[in-house]
Amino acid sequence: MKQLRFVFGVLFLLLAFVSEGQQGSYVRKVVIDAGHGGKDPGALGRRAKEKDIALSIALKTGAYINKYLPDVEVIYTRDSDEFIELHRRAEIANSNDADLFISIHCNSNRSSQPYGSETYVMGLHKSQANLEVAKKENSAILLEENYREEYDGFDPNSDEGYISLSLLQNEHLDQSIKMADLVQEQFRERVGRRDRSVRQAGFLVLYRTTMPGVLIETGFLSNPKEERFLISKKGQVYIASAIFRAFRNYKEEMEKGLPKEDVRQVVQKNYPEKEKIKKQEVYFSVQIDTSPEKLKTTPGNFKNLDGVEEYYHSGLYKYTYGKTTSLPEARRIQSQMRGKGFKGAFTVAFKAGERISISDALDLLEQK
Ligand SMILES: [Zn+2]
Repeated sequence: MKQLRFVFGVLFLLLAFVSEGQQGSYVRKVVIDAGHGGKDPGALGRRAKEKDIALSIALKTGAYINKYLPDVEVIYTRDSDEFIELHRRAEIANSNDADLFISIHCNSNRSSQPYGSETYVMGLHKSQANLEVAKKENSAILLEENYREEYDGFDPNSDEGYISLSLLQNEHLDQSIKMADLVQEQFRERVGRRDRSVRQAGFLVLYRTTMPGVLIETGFLSNPKEERFLISKKGQVYIASAIFRAFRNYKEEMEKGLPKEDVRQVVQKNYPEKEKIKKQEVYFSVQIDTSPEKLKTTPGNFKNLDGVEEYYHSGLYKYTYGKTTSLPEARRIQSQMRGKGFKGAFTVAFKAGERISISDALDLLEQK
C-alpha cells in the first residue's frame, strides 16, 4: 500500500510537472547577441567581417521588435564594435531574466562551396560538421584573459569537453527547438535561403544561458555569392525581418491561451522608461509645404523626395522632411530643401509629434 501511494505520488508530481511545462508564458524580454566584436572579427569573407554583419543584423532585428512589439524589451549584449566575453553575454541574459536568447553569426568553411542558413540549439552534435561549427564559435574564448578559470579548463579545440558539455540537461530544449524551427522556416519560405536545418552542438554561450536560446548561422562568408548577399543592406534587412517574424510567431505561440493584456498598460507597467523616452522624443525637422487638403506623402507630390511626413496643425496639413536632434543639421537640410525648390522651407521642432518652439526644443535637448 505504501509503495502504491509512493507510485501515485510520483505520478502526480510528474503530471503536475508536465502540465506546468505546457503552460504558456509571456515573452517580454529578448536578448539579441551579435557574435564576436572588437579584437575578435569572427569569420572573414573576402570583404566582410562576421562581427560587422552580425551587429548590423542584430540591431535591425531589435529595431523591428521595438517598432512592432512594444511590450517586448530588447536587450543587446553589444550595440557597437566591442569585444564581449562569452560568459559575459550569458550573464547579461541571465541577470536580466530574459525570456529568449538569440545569438547571431555567420558561418565559414574551408571550401567556398557550402552555402545556406542553419540554426543551432544546445545539445550533442550528431555530425563532425556541427562539432566544427561549435569549436569555431567557442574558440572566441581563447581571446579572453581568464578563459581557463572562467570555463573550468574547457578546451574549445578538443573533442572531449563537448560530450560532457552536451550531456547536461537542457530544460528549455523544446522552446529552443520551436524558435529554431521558426527561424529556419522564415529563411526558407520568405528569404529563399538554402535550409541547412535545425542542428545541435555544444555552444558555450548557449550552455551558460538559463532560458531558451538559439544560435543562428545566417550564411557562409566563405561562399562569394552568399557573402555578397550578407554584406548588402538588402540582405541584412531580409535576414533581420525573418528573425523578427520568427520571434513574433514564437511569442504568439508561447502566449497562446494566456489572457490578452493591454499592450499600452504592459509598456507603462514594465517599461516606464521606454514610454518616457518615446513621449519625450524631441527633434528638429524642416517644413517644406502646407495644404488645406490632405496630400499623399509620395515622392511624386514632393519633387521626388522620399520620406516626407505629415502633421496637422492650426487647420492645415503640413509636410516636413528630415529628423535630427542637431539644429545645425536641421539648418543644413533647410538650405538643401530651399535649393531643391521649396523656397519657403524652414526649421521646426517637435516633442512627441507635437510642434514646439525651437528654443523649447533646445532646452529639452540640453537637459538630456
Ligand atoms: Zn560566429
